[in-house]
Amino acid sequence: MRRAIIKCSGVVQGIGFRPFVYRIAVKRGLSGYVKNLGDAGVEIVVEGPEEDLKLFLKDLVDEKPPLAEYEKLEVVWEEPRGLKEFKIEESDKSLKAGGFSNPPPDIATCNECLRELFTPGHRRYLYPFIVCSHCGPRFTIIMDLPYDRVRTSMVDFPMCEECASEYYDPLNRRHHAEPVCCWKCGPKMMLYTIDGEEVKVDDPLKEAAKLIEEGFIVGVKGIGGVHVAALARDDEVVAELRRRKRRPQRPLAVMSRGLEQVKSYAVVSKVEEELLTSFRRPIVLLRKKEPFELSELIAPGLDTVGVMLAYSGIHHVLLSYLGEPAVIMTSGNEPGEPMAIDNEAAFKQLRGIVDYLLLHNRRIINRCDDSVVKVVDGMPNPIRRSRGYVMEPFKLSFNSKRVVVAVGAEENVTGAVLKEDHCYPTQYIGDVDRLETYDYLSSSLETYMRLLGVKEVDAVACDLHPHFLTRRLAKELSERFNAELVEVQHHHAHAASLMAEHGLSLENELVCITADGVGYGLDGEPWGGEVLVSSFNGFRRLGRLAKLPMPGGDLCARYPARMLMAALSPTLGVEEARRVVLTMYLEGFKHGAVEVDLVARQLERASHPYTTSTGRVLDAAAAMLGVCLERTYEGEPAIKLEAAASRGDPSSLKLPVELKRGDDGCLWLDTSLILTEALHAYRSGARREDVAAAVQEAIAKGFALMALEIAEAEGLKGVGFSGGVAYNHYITKRVREIVEGRGLRFYRHVKAPSGDGGISLGQAAIAAAKLASK
Ligand SMILES: [Zn+2]
Ligand SMILES: [Zn+2]
Ligand SMILES: [Zn+2]
Repeated sequence: MRRAIIKCSGVVQGIGFRPFVYRIAVKRGLSGYVKNLGDAGVEIVVEGPEEDLKLFLKDLVDEKPPLAEYEKLEVVWEEPRGLKEFKIEESDKSLKAGGFSNPPPDIATCNECLRELFTPGHRRYLYPFIVCSHCGPRFTIIMDLPYDRVRTSMVDFPMCEECASEYYDPLNRRHHAEPVCCWKCGPKMMLYTIDGEEVKVDDPLKEAAKLIEEGFIVGVKGIGGVHVAALARDDEVVAELRRRKRRPQRPLAVMSRGLEQVKSYAVVSKVEEELLTSFRRPIVLLRKKEPFELSELIAPGLDTVGVMLAYSGIHHVLLSYLGEPAVIMTSGNEPGEPMAIDNEAAFKQLRGIVDYLLLHNRRIINRCDDSVVKVVDGMPNPIRRSRGYVMEPFKLSFNSKRVVVAVGAEENVTGAVLKEDHCYPTQYIGDVDRLETYDYLSSSLETYMRLLGVKEVDAVACDLHPHFLTRRLAKELSERFNAELVEVQHHHAHAASLMAEHGLSLENELVCITADGVGYGLDGEPWGGEVLVSSFNGFRRLGRLAKLPMPGGDLCARYPARMLMAALSPTLGVEEARRVVLTMYLEGFKHGAVEVDLVARQLERASHPYTTSTGRVLDAAAAMLGVCLERTYEGEPAIKLEAAASRGDPSSLKLPVELKRGDDGCLWLDTSLILTEALHAYRSGARREDVAAAVQEAIAKGFALMALEIAEAEGLKGVGFSGGVAYNHYITKRVREIVEGRGLRFYRHVKAPSGDGGISLGQAAIAAAKLASK
């Protein structure tokens, strides 16, 4: 007889782990106990014949629950103490597993629960809060660790006898499922008018479904926040929702019950199907089926639609009452503000947007937006890594032995807390350009620090941009913790996030194309089309796009025709560029010819910044082809250009890809020439779709050739691609083909967002590398 003491860390709490351990111990007739530890690890003590203990250890690894992940599994052997049976013990907050243990993410309703949910006569028939140890909310209801009911918002709902008997029965699927509840003891749904008057009905979900079917717009509180639900097939309803949300163009996500419904209006590849049906249930950007069954106003001008499958009982039951292939399910907030999570606030925040509110009385502790993923060139690239993903960490190849907090940039911000060699990006925060999102970022970082047991911080990382609000937060934190403030150049952070995701080491250097809208450059100019040779410890900028004038600064981002005029001017001259826009693109200027003349004067005086942004080049092309003349949401012109290009033939015309060498020693791609030649082709009758495709081809080729030349000169064997432009399917595919065609390895994002949602990871890794080398 022996005794084995096993400490596990990783994802081992909140996923039915202890019942699993119980089952495999009892199966072999072993005695002992299993319990949760304070840092989300688990301790197992088993006694029995050595042979059986070894088999137990094998089961522990081979048969672990699907969501469990071991970071560490430590076994200490001792003499037995004569334990009689196997028990699941109370959690011990004071004990630690050591290593890293992660609170589990929110998990979509499992198939067994779904079956019960729709079985008449079952005691949880149509009960919207149905869960078991394999599914249900986790991160969104956690207040503290270890993960036990008393430290979640389920503490407000004492279990009834029946639920308790399931909870304490080690052979039950709901054994120690912390959010377990039922009609008798659990949370309830309530329906209100937006004025706060309760609509008294037997079944608020059924009534809400009826209202949605009648064309009303209804706020629906779910797992991580309040959504706005509305009919997806009715143009009038969608138009009204857009008017109320003041969102003329930005695509709206929809939700369906199952894959079959999705396939009626969208094309789903194998990879997309896996994403849609995974326990994470992100929104996946799918290609629209033609003719498109839903309203065109859902994603105007785009060839894609954002789709997610129902992921909680609330959604499943609501959708079961609706005879619709999909309903709009977009986050409920004022533009730019975080999604509403508490009932009181929902009435205020959603006034003027929804007619009714379908709420429930379970508190959402941690707000969590839906995640968004786009499959690019056959691989998933997360746009938003949030619900279903957080708080899963990234493991770095090096251990800084310190704690770093990173605050992101400005758009699509996530923060991050890095502990030793684990980096934990926060849920999606939003654009941190106002107090509400600033506070959200700050409180989210506090929550992460608390859940990770962080009390001291050694460094705080932020963007180089002097005016970002996130920088203010970084300063505050660095003062509070007396921690070093590490400023990180935006595109270096992009490159480092890619390197971190791929587990590259401190010695590695990577040639990295970083292409996006804008990031503050070392020279104070707006960068956004760079080829860097990057390591965690630094970078050199060896390639870039042409420096194009940006008269009026950010106005060029808002009004792409202005950018077009600016981009043409180096090749055509200011006067000719002026004539072109006056004859062809006047409607792209809010104040007409007067504004064109003003821009011309600014160009002549050269009193403006210069940008190497890829986004602005794509914007200019979008304006040229009449695809988009005003940007109403981030990336709109480039996304619409991509939609047009997807119907075009990139080889039908050839645009010049000229690489030049600048005074600064940098290689650069003449994008002004590409756009000017594209304009000639377009004016001579080339199809809009073909020109769009040819512009993307030229940009892709230019980047790939620059990267290859630099890789060769530097003797490097890998080329990476990061930044928001990496969401462009065609550009990514072409860069990969050209890079791989030369026998080099291509690195891309599949776990961290290539856009600015990945910046915090890169910032944290760079700051950690700095500390590690001290
Ligand atoms: Zn379940
Ligand atoms: Zn109950
Ligand atoms: Zn960026």
